[in-house]
Amino acid sequence: MPQNLIEVRWPIIGHKKITKYLTHSIRENRIASAYLFTGPAHVGKSTVAYSFIQSLLCSDEKSRPCGHCLNCQKFLNRAHPDIAYIEKFDSKKNISIDEVRERIVHRHNLRSFLSPYQISIVIGAESLSIEAANSLLKTLEEPSASSIIILVTDKPDALPKTIISRCQIIEFFPVPFDDILNFVETNSETSDRQKILKICKLSAGRPGLAWQYLHIPEILSQREEINTRFIKALGTRLIGQFRYLENEIESQSFQEGLDKANDSLDNWIKTLRDMLMEHYHLDVYQINSYLKTDLEKLAYRYPTRLIVELINYLFRLKQRLAVNLNPRLALENFFLNT
Ligand SMILES: [Zn+2]
Repeated sequence: MPQNLIEVRWPIIGHKKITKYLTHSIRENRIASAYLFTGPAHVGKSTVAYSFIQSLLCSDEKSRPCGHCLNCQKFLNRAHPDIAYIEKFDSKKNISIDEVRERIVHRHNLRSFLSPYQISIVIGAESLSIEAANSLLKTLEEPSASSIIILVTDKPDALPKTIISRCQIIEFFPVPFDDILNFVETNSETSDRQKILKICKLSAGRPGLAWQYLHIPEILSQREEINTRFIKALGTRLIGQFRYLENEIESQSFQEGLDKANDSLDNWIKTLRDMLMEHYHLDVYQINSYLKTDLEKLAYRYPTRLIVELINYLFRLKQRLAVNLNPRLALENFFLNT
């Protein structure tokens, strides 16, 4: 069977354009030597990357990934000799140059064993140390014919431009509400319509979050609790808001602080957006609609013009955080401007 008729299956929700493009690449055998998969956390980047890798390796001539050929079996057991996995673990500060040298640079000079490719995947590529990134850059500049490097990150601004410019960029966006709704309806054990809608809204276009909220009730209640606390904190005086966010980012390492600060800013943006919807009576689009009474009270304390200004301000702040502005300073600046 000609390669260009292979059926490629993607076990993911949404991202049709991306999977169509990657399917085409596999069928035409036009594979880039480096990819950058970028987009929000939990949107499906790693799922698509792993599925892409499995389909590249799979030796089935009709439908990929087949799940039972030798390549698929080795891949599924995380024991395929032609793949290197790199990920930053919580206990480590970053991804070191030694890891990159040992697992990527060295192996890309070798021949592949079972497949036509030597594939490396770096999850959380923003954690590459400067030395590690420089070492990787040399490999990206002189790729061997069989080497493929896939970098996955939700913080592309933290990567050197020299690395980004060597990669085929695959940008992921939140998936449409209806796709998430369809997934939640199909996989939910509850018929409680309010709960289903709450899960869909809270996941904000990110299938990974929808999956977590569906299957791990503690994560859903944790999220609800954080949002409730957050919206209540917004209703208190300025000093109360300061304390709330100080607690959020206090005694965290810088990176954790950065994630928390980003999470807080996302919460602010979603809440302000909900407040705008309240003004325009578009309740159906509110993410935190289950906190309606609190939102109502909040919304009318702020005129719409100010809400729009604040949203724009927060987006700018997020951009500054992405280029390493201290998270605490960023948040304090915000409060000084409200
Ligand atoms: Zn297979």
